[in-house]
Amino acid sequence: MLFQPSIRSLTVLAPAKLNLFLRVVRRRVDGFHDLETVMTAINIFDTLVFEPVESPEITLRVSMCAPRNRNSAPTDPIPTGPENLVVRAALLLKEHAGVTQGAQITLIKRIPSAAGMGGGSSDAAATLAGLNRLWKLGRSRDELLELAGRLGSDIGFFLGGSSTAVCRGRGELVEPLQLPMGLHFVVARPSSGLSTPAVFKHCQPGQSDRDVGEFLAALQRPGLGQMVRLLLNDLQSPAERLNDQVRDLRERFAKLPVIGHQMSGSGTSYFGICSSARHAGAIASRLRSEGVPWVQIARTCV
Ligand code: ATP
Repeated sequence: MLFQPSIRSLTVLAPAKLNLFLRVVRRRVDGFHDLETVMTAINIFDTLVFEPVESPEITLRVSMCAPRNRNSAPTDPIPTGPENLVVRAALLLKEHAGVTQGAQITLIKRIPSAAGMGGGSSDAAATLAGLNRLWKLGRSRDELLELAGRLGSDIGFFLGGSSTAVCRGRGELVEPLQLPMGLHFVVARPSSGLSTPAVFKHCQPGQSDRDVGEFLAALQRPGLGQMVRLLLNDLQSPAERLNDQVRDLRERFAKLPVIGHQMSGSGTSYFGICSSARHAGAIASRLRSEGVPWVQIARTCV
């Protein structure tokens, strides 16, 4: 998350994430699932601009990145009311801290939605951190993390301050991790998305016996060979069953000279690991020429 303060407003850049490893450990009695996942933030950002207003209202304006740009985020209409995680995060912090003033928030979407790239969660984290600064509340990270846990599972990762982490529990138990080197990606998203609850409903927990410890050890070794052999996403099979476009992307990536590839989160975005930005650019050009609607190159945030 990057902060750009100015006299009248505060701009926050909210990154997307990719899941390098995602194991669904078990279904819990509360209906959620226990996970073991390694997430890394990448340099594809939504922009949020926060302006203080004297009236108590929280208002949200959403604008999609340039519609004529063929690489604008493919997305269903984004809600501007209380269903938007930005509004929910703002109202929760306002009530929790007893703030009387309001805020005008502008959200510029670049992260595709329903893509498993954590766009809504990152926007919510940016809102908690941004309004904490704008309203000069001085709340600690732990306090914001507690609020984040009430709003959703991945928000803690984006608040955590580390660009890569192992997340456990529902995803809210965040253990920061240092990557020995930056990773380069090509990320693609088909024309349709998937709902996270629908994908979890169709997954069978406990299918893979892979241990995140082995993946973490491979991640620390020089070279990417061992790590890419251990890439895992237990949500990919159910996502492919629910959406043919995910299977289509897997088949396309399997024919491309990438180092490794898999779906991110609950999909439908799909990523390839590349050796350099130049390599990622060449793969991206190829996917675009094949008509894949949204293709971006990215790298891990530092
Ligand atoms: P995750 O990787 O956390 O599962 P996702 O990328 O699959 O997330 P999002 O794009 O974050 O999914 O959001 C999914 C749905 O949530 C959207 O279809 C939209 O209706 C709703 N939503 C609420 N707030 C936001 C937001 N700020 N940005 C995008 N979608 C939002």
